[in-house]
Amino acid sequence: MASIIPYGHQYIDQDDIDAVVEALKGDFLTTGPTVEKFEQAVADYVGANYAVAVSSGTAALHAALHAIGVAPGDEVIVPALTFAATANAVVYCGGTPVFADVEEDTLCIDPMSIANLITKKTKCIVPVDYAGQPCYYKRIKRVVEFIWPLPIVADSCHALGASLDGEMIGSLTDMTCFSFHPVKVITTFEGGMITTNNKAYADRMRQFRNHGGAGTGNQTALGYNYRLSDVACALGLSQLKKLPQFIERRRAIAKMYDEAFAELKHIRPLSVRESTGHAYHLYVIKIAVEALQAPLERIRERLRGLGVGTTRHYRPTHLMDFYRQNYGTNPGQCPVAEDAYEHILSIPIYPSLSDGQVQQVIEAVKQVVGL
Ligand SMILES: *Cc1c(COP(=O)(O)O)cnc(C)c1O
Repeated sequence: MASIIPYGHQYIDQDDIDAVVEALKGDFLTTGPTVEKFEQAVADYVGANYAVAVSSGTAALHAALHAIGVAPGDEVIVPALTFAATANAVVYCGGTPVFADVEEDTLCIDPMSIANLITKKTKCIVPVDYAGQPCYYKRIKRVVEFIWPLPIVADSCHALGASLDGEMIGSLTDMTCFSFHPVKVITTFEGGMITTNNKAYADRMRQFRNHGGAGTGNQTALGYNYRLSDVACALGLSQLKKLPQFIERRRAIAKMYDEAFAELKHIRPLSVRESTGHAYHLYVIKIAVEALQAPLERIRERLRGLGVGTTRHYRPTHLMDFYRQNYGTNPGQCPVAEDAYEHILSIPIYPSLSDGQVQQVIEAVKQVVGL
């Protein structure tokens, strides 16, 4: 059987392999000097004062919400269209996720929806840089501050390397969370990081990832083992060197798709704001399934038959049984996100995707949803 081009894939070269082997030969497999080096390198890259490495993007969100002090009785506003971890991190802290709708054209959180959901119980906002496009933070801040100031924790798990108005994502909000899962922009196997300019937040997260301080003396709060290993950070440092090339290649592929799909009537790529430096973790197209009279799953099947893997990012979190049963969420609550889920496909985009494979994807899309 012919192989299927996946929607995303890691890029590992000999330098990465050498870096990991070197780290394995060292004295520290887990907590060692490479952790700090990797943290410093990411902080420098995004232009933040502090970076805290943790064991996953999910742990990054949990640590950030802990640092803010999210607790039972608190509400945290999250977009409906995201990976479940965004809302789950709120639940880990005992808080209640409140689901905001997204913008129809970018699928980033809708600032007006945030404004409508803020109450006295709202502790913070967690926008998601959907697909790698930064949310328009200036507008979100303006809308939020008009009511009253609230901290913003960016879930930028898609968006390492992205920028807004020429500034890197990573210091534009109170905290910024990244993921280094293999399908994300760079990888450390599993891994994550939080960047911030706030020392108190950084200190609290360093304690939190290491048993609340119990390992190094006095335990001051309940913590976890959310450490990222020295070996993982060695891979991260090596990957980070290639990040500018990774982003450049992702943008080049997106441009080829943009140009090829501009002609097609039944599909539309997501909008990209002028001011955005997109990281293109995902390339998402909206398909006019009604006009095509074909359910999305049938379209996916046909693309798969032509060797093209796709994914739907994401089933809206408020439609998951867990949230419906425990938080009383319902269909109809976030109509834009719900409608998007019936129309969106993420098609292959990753640095090692060849021009030939990009053409194969374009031809397959044209054949299945063409004209
Ligand atoms: C991947 C992802 C996460 C979780 O990251 P992990 O490293 O897999 O734990 C959180 N939020 C979003 C939007 C993600 O895409």
